[in-house]
Amino acid sequence: MKKIGSLFLSLLMVISLLAGCANGQTASPSSVAASSSMMQPDAQDETAQTQAPKHIFYFIGDGMGLSHRQLAEVFARYKTGDENHVLTMNAMPVTTNITTHNSNTLVTDSAAAGTAMATGQKTQTGVIGMNEDGTETYKSISEALREKGMGIGLITTVSITHATPAAFGAHTANRNDEAAIAEQYLANEWDFLAGGGFNYFADTTEGGKREEGDSLLDDFENAGYTIDLDLESFTQTDFSAVEKYLGLYEPKYLTEVITQRNGTKVSPELSEIVQAGIDVLGQNEEGFFMMVEGGYIDGASHNNDTAATLHEVLAFEEAVQVAVDFYNQYPEDTLILVTADHETGGLSLGYNAYTLDLERLDTIKVAYEREIDVFLQAGDVDGYRAAMQQHYGIEVSDEDMEKILTGIENFDITGLLADAGFTDPAIVAEYEGMRHMLGISGHISSYLLAEETRIGWGSQTHTSEPVPLTVLGVEGERFATCRDNTDIPKTLAEIMGVAIG
Ligand SMILES: [Zn+2]
Repeated sequence: MKKIGSLFLSLLMVISLLAGCANGQTASPSSVAASSSMMQPDAQDETAQTQAPKHIFYFIGDGMGLSHRQLAEVFARYKTGDENHVLTMNAMPVTTNITTHNSNTLVTDSAAAGTAMATGQKTQTGVIGMNEDGTETYKSISEALREKGMGIGLITTVSITHATPAAFGAHTANRNDEAAIAEQYLANEWDFLAGGGFNYFADTTEGGKREEGDSLLDDFENAGYTIDLDLESFTQTDFSAVEKYLGLYEPKYLTEVITQRNGTKVSPELSEIVQAGIDVLGQNEEGFFMMVEGGYIDGASHNNDTAATLHEVLAFEEAVQVAVDFYNQYPEDTLILVTADHETGGLSLGYNAYTLDLERLDTIKVAYEREIDVFLQAGDVDGYRAAMQQHYGIEVSDEDMEKILTGIENFDITGLLADAGFTDPAIVAEYEGMRHMLGISGHISSYLLAEETRIGWGSQTHTSEPVPLTVLGVEGERFATCRDNTDIPKTLAEIMGVAIG
């Protein structure tokens, strides 16, 4: 009975999100219901002078589609026992859906989508902040707001030089040139940079990937940055005394939430980093713009790893809550946007079933990529089968094992990349290392579990499904008419009185 009730409420939630698309319909969630300031007096009159927000949070869940948000919500209901619980990010009064296509394909990547969401311009797969052939740069909303004197923060759970933050802080025709993106961050002196990606800032003698003598860490320090390279250092930093900040807590991605929460915490969580960002950027009298990415939602979804995906979305939700707490303190000055660059994985809640088994899902305590697929990547089939038994409680049959192995071997990565518009052999070689993430291993492994959880996946790459945009705060109603990802920065630029693109 509980499951049915919960799903019915979930269905209502989806309907209200979709219905909200047409008219910016107002929800009345408990967590934001108290905010009477949502109705700005000027909002109905387009000729009236607009009130520009002083504090802007732009949350981007990489790969976070409607089903991702829904999964986190029904799981939160299951855990709390509160069937009326609504995620803070789903409870915002303005809600719409945006298309995510790029200039050359219906299904985008994070570089082109990030460019659209930062500059209001479409470009092709792999390109960041530039036109398709990389001959022209597009001005981002972060650059435009910096010129107004606002503090700029870029925060993520993957490498800080990854495509989404890069779209707000750099320009390059090749998203994989993360060393160059790091150099541009230094040249731009963005106020608050935090996430993973130590490798692209440190040289080989420091344990990084830059050539010996080419480290950027001293340069950042000389430019006045406070630098944290691990959790301990982060914990000890007094952010209210920090002027400019660079946090690089791990070599590439931050360790997945599911792994950290069921084992040892090795990096700050997204919510903690957002709070640190507020402490630093909040000192700026002209206000701040903060882009916050839940980066590994995408990675976990590529792996069709339902449990890891779920916990990344829940941690992202907690980070949104930090911003909403800030909004509740400064409702006259704050604007919060929550959206995604695209959906990843074609997540389907209801795999040949009408109820989900969230209790079964809750038994999974590891990231598939780290604790299970790692054996396949090493060619250890027995190790993989033992790990599936240990962590998923699933016996992999000989037949399924055969399918997985031939699937990995036959996966046409060159064809997939060509379809996305990538033909450069160097890029193809680089993506070979992602064969498991983009191939069949996680897909079949997750389906063995889906028989029980009743949660399935349609793809190991991105999909073209429009993604939700929810908004809370000053001038939030203006976003109700957004239909495409380019509309978001354009609307923001209009509100702030700046030019982008
Ligand atoms: Zn992706």
